[in-house]
Amino acid sequence: MKTILIKNGLVVTGNTETVCDVLCEGEKITYIGNDPRFAADTEIIDAAGKIVIPGGVDVHTHLNLDAGIAVASDDFYTGTIAAACGGTTTIVDHPAFGPAGCGLDHQIRKYHGFAGGKAVIDYGFHGVIQHVDENVLAMMEALADEGITSYKVYLTYGFKLSDADVFRVLRRAKELGLLITVHPENDGIINLLREEFRAAGKTEPRFHPLSRPAECEAEAINRMILFARMAGNAPLYIVHLSNRLGMEFIRAARREGQQNIWAETCPQYLLLDESRYSAPGNEGLKYIMCPPLRTDADRESLWRGLESDIDTLATDHCPFFFETRKMSGKDDFTKCPSGAPGIEERIPLMYSEGVAKKRISLRRFTDLCCANPARLFGFYPQKGLIAPGSDADLVIIDPDKRVTLSKKMLHENVDYTAYEGFEVQGWPVCTISRGEVIARNGEFRGKPGRGKFLRRGKIAVAPVP
Ligand code: MN
Repeated sequence: MKTILIKNGLVVTGNTETVCDVLCEGEKITYIGNDPRFAADTEIIDAAGKIVIPGGVDVHTHLNLDAGIAVASDDFYTGTIAAACGGTTTIVDHPAFGPAGCGLDHQIRKYHGFAGGKAVIDYGFHGVIQHVDENVLAMMEALADEGITSYKVYLTYGFKLSDADVFRVLRRAKELGLLITVHPENDGIINLLREEFRAAGKTEPRFHPLSRPAECEAEAINRMILFARMAGNAPLYIVHLSNRLGMEFIRAARREGQQNIWAETCPQYLLLDESRYSAPGNEGLKYIMCPPLRTDADRESLWRGLESDIDTLATDHCPFFFETRKMSGKDDFTKCPSGAPGIEERIPLMYSEGVAKKRISLRRFTDLCCANPARLFGFYPQKGLIAPGSDADLVIIDPDKRVTLSKKMLHENVDYTAYEGFEVQGWPVCTISRGEVIARNGEFRGKPGRGKFLRRGKIAVAPVP
């Protein structure tokens, strides 16, 4: 059995940060402390002066996503290599919509095909609910037994659900103890505004955020919160929160005593703002995503919200090549596939901008990026925690290493990064997945297909009745 001893790092464990050793035997962590007993052939990694965190957990990725007008350029091989090099050891992917009328298991089967033999880190899938009938509601239970314990509904795009159908899904989720994730935007008003802008020839990227106002997102968040409340505090998870007003509605509902609401934001909404859409030439297309980047004030509000209003940090990684795909929107922003890369940049950016700049504590950083997503999506403490018995998924961060982010050094299969030129302090220099060093100093050294499907359990934060 392969054993690794990580010596003298500052280890972020359940409730302390302490300089100690972590012993990994086989795929598990077996000991944390200052007096490890280990075999003679143990690989010793000196982590003195470095920080040891649980492997990053990214619960919002779109590998292989077929968006109709384009297919995301990272598959489960390239995308998970990029994740590993950036300090992420587990993903939960949001599948694309399947053909109209397909069963709830259709995309899950298809995604097992995409990921099997390719993924280099462990992975799970959310289910996607694109219509509601008795079969779909029944299959939510059957698929939960196969480890699909969270589902996504959309309030916009082609397979948006009606209010009544969303409510049926929430009621069923409450009954089964499953988590419903939602892409909240007001479909009707967005479509109207997009058509008006196009008709008026207002087709540059800067009209993209104007066609999807923050109020459209906030309204849909509030609608979901109230539906979840009517469904008896059904477990509800807001993905990619981008604006202050939406966060106020979440806060207000919690103040009212509503339980079982959680929110995710992403680095792009904390670090970039809508001025990017006015960048020279066609550069603004690089940032076309939904919801769009917001104002500087929204950004600052989200930073303040990281302390308690926001529960997780994910990426919504959905890369398209700029030259060949994003440029489809050069004469009309509505023709640009929506999404941007970010799976590799999340941990370094959030460590640097959050912890190194003292906006969040090291503990809060690991809660947001590792522990909370694992808890909410049903694989804690297997993942997201450094403790004996947990999977040996660990990341060593060198807090002194300074790096200028650039496409050239990243592994994502795409031709740009939204963070070109960002100076970061602190870098994941070693990534260990189930006891195997799979990335070191930006070099991937694992094998395709070593990642395992995660049969997720139910939400590990007990929903309140
Ligand atoms: Mn997404």
